[in-house]
Amino acid sequence: MTLHQNLIAGEWVGSQAEENINPSDTRDVVGLYAQASADDANAAIAAAKAAFPSWSRSGILERHAILKKTADEILARKDELGRLLSLEEGKTLAEGIGETIRAAQIFDFFAGETLRLTGELVPSARPNIGVEITREPLGPIGIITPWNFPIAIPAWKIAPALAYGNTVVFKPAELVPGCSWAIVDILHRAGLPKGVLNLVMGRGSVVGQAMLDSPHLAGITFTGSTGTGKRVAAASIEHNRKFQLEMGGKNPMVVLDDADLGVAVEAAANSGFFSTGQRCTASSRIIVTEGIHDKFVEALTERLSKLNVDHALKEGTHIGPVVDERQLKQDCDYIDIGRKEGAKLAFGGERIERETPGFYLQPTLFTEATNDMRISREEIFGPVAAVIRVKDYEEALAVANDTPFGLSAGIATTSLKHATHFKRNSEAGMVMVNLPTAGVDFHVPFGGRKASSFGPREQGKYAAEFFTVVKTAYTLA
Ligand code: NAD
Repeated sequence: MTLHQNLIAGEWVGSQAEENINPSDTRDVVGLYAQASADDANAAIAAAKAAFPSWSRSGILERHAILKKTADEILARKDELGRLLSLEEGKTLAEGIGETIRAAQIFDFFAGETLRLTGELVPSARPNIGVEITREPLGPIGIITPWNFPIAIPAWKIAPALAYGNTVVFKPAELVPGCSWAIVDILHRAGLPKGVLNLVMGRGSVVGQAMLDSPHLAGITFTGSTGTGKRVAAASIEHNRKFQLEMGGKNPMVVLDDADLGVAVEAAANSGFFSTGQRCTASSRIIVTEGIHDKFVEALTERLSKLNVDHALKEGTHIGPVVDERQLKQDCDYIDIGRKEGAKLAFGGERIERETPGFYLQPTLFTEATNDMRISREEIFGPVAAVIRVKDYEEALAVANDTPFGLSAGIATTSLKHATHFKRNSEAGMVMVNLPTAGVDFHVPFGGRKASSFGPREQGKYAAEFFTVVKTAYTLA
């Protein structure tokens, strides 16, 4: 089996290999990937620092061509890359291909952004002085990503970093090196100069920590758990470094009496269980008003009974496996916690066996949950959701906002008044009306509030906020 190596200063290096296992079939080795050391991380940071002066002054046509070529190759190989994503992360093939297409769209968007960069010329408050406001690249940037969107999240960080003239040290999550390696390989072959993009695969506690401890990174953009995000924040403050955090969620899905039942059930099923519930924008907290509660629970339970949990690549699979044993244990622990807290198990709750040995879990639904239970407050990150019964819209909104997190929030209603009020008063960064809490476009801002996010938004033209710094220059005429 080929060993996929790290990319440091334009060279593929590394020999310490680790196997990447398929969560749908634990007998299946997806690939062999080199493990970087803290020294490798520091060498990659030095390479990114050395490459920065030249890349930050590179012509926009060079950056445009590389990003566009990358977008085109990702799109042309969408079936192969989507399959790789399904094999290493466990998303269904349709989800894997969908995420790959999204990555191509992101590279295409930021290829276009290289041609749209502008500044401003502003009259001064004083006579005979001109003021120029421009955006400059930030510097060498560390990118640290989670396992649950192994192609899209690296794409939405690497593409703007490069488009705006920054150099990069990229550390993907341990569980999904294959997708990251493939994206870096495509960018490398598309013609990136040596050291502009460096890949260091390996442990968070070793490689990631070396990045946090380095005084040579001008910024770190991180997506992952809130716990690790806090470490990134503390280390970045220590090093006077710009940082951006996208972290966990506990996203509410509100269902009102006047909702279209079919729309509400589809939104809740998608939000809670698709992609095995392993999305930061998943909803594991379904807040339902009294009048529709019983009908809704019955219809959602019926919908869940029709979802096939099986090998991610098998035709007819709706939900793939949980990503690994550790995450499966966490999901099962939360199911036990829900039972002990007094919530009623309405569907699922058991680990299941399939033809291939994998980490399969039934979609699991609790009812009669209250918002102070741990299953209602903590991120589970699996196919486990709880229904909370409330009296009316006002109580639903209060419960929806009563959470430490603030990433995404959904409402199912046919009332324009309630939809409008919810959009204005939800404390989430993204609000969905009659749509799942997950499922976002590639070209508009992504991010949240409270313990879910810190710093400028990702994606779209708002990405420039993190990946550039503003300069104001005054000239005497
Ligand atoms: P994680 O925090 O365990 O790991 C994320 C990354 O940080 C990995 O690459 C890991 O190796 C690295 N890391 C771990 N310890 C480190 C350290 N000491 N120093 C530096 N880096 C370190 O998260 P995960 O389990 O990979 O991902 C799941 C989490 O990600 C969930 O909480 C989910 O909500 C969140 N997430 C958030 C968003 C968003 O945009 N808000 C999107 C996807 C996932």
